[in-house]
Amino acid sequence: MPYALRSSSKALIAGLMANYQHIVVLTGAGLSAESGLSTFRDKGGIWSKYDYRDVATPEGFARDPGLVLDFYNQRRSAHANVRPNGAHAALARLEHEHAGDVVVVTQNIDALHEAAGAQNLIHMHGELMKALCARCGARHAWVEDIALDTRCPACGKTGSMRPDVVWFGEMPYHMQRIAEHLSAADLFVSIGTSGNVYPAAAFVAEARLNGAHTVELNLEPSEGASLFAEKIHGPATQVVPAYVERLLSG
Ligand SMILES: [Zn+2]
Repeated sequence: MPYALRSSSKALIAGLMANYQHIVVLTGAGLSAESGLSTFRDKGGIWSKYDYRDVATPEGFARDPGLVLDFYNQRRSAHANVRPNGAHAALARLEHEHAGDVVVVTQNIDALHEAAGAQNLIHMHGELMKALCARCGARHAWVEDIALDTRCPACGKTGSMRPDVVWFGEMPYHMQRIAEHLSAADLFVSIGTSGNVYPAAAFVAEARLNGAHTVELNLEPSEGASLFAEKIHGPATQVVPAYVERLLSG
């Protein structure tokens, strides 16, 4: 095997695997990296080329909305060329074949979970392929560029359209629903997240408090790795399908 499998947990015992009733999966940029989407925080990632304060904060948008729209227009057009990878497919398979509930909470703004067939999905940081009207609050599926004079299909006004993504300093979406899922979870799996982005980094602690088994699947140990009962490290397209296979085969 080209990657190391490590586990600190006795929960590898196969008999414990089959009975999870409520699985919560948190996914981050590491899941989509092998689809060719740049990660944000890694060396060479997007935040090494752009200052997030310029392109991913409300203040940056107020200062230079054209720059911010252009940044997301580039991301949106690049998205047309990417496809879900084996890790997205494995998670969709888990959702459809596991007897208990499976919900995916993603930090990713791409649409690769949906493209792989996921249905029970929460986009906590919004969606690249949607536009939000800051004036009337309407959300629209969006594949074209957004310009300064783009008209809102709902209220008809121009000058208020922005990508429907959560910027630094803004409240992530659906936090109440996520908290409810975490309080019901008996298995919490974090995949491809750097472990230092709150509030997502706190989810593992919340799940543990509620008695869930906790698993990190990541390319390398994350900053929050010590919080997880079980750790499996390697490329997402290898470790995620293997882990899903274990869950489904009990
Ligand atoms: Zn509007």
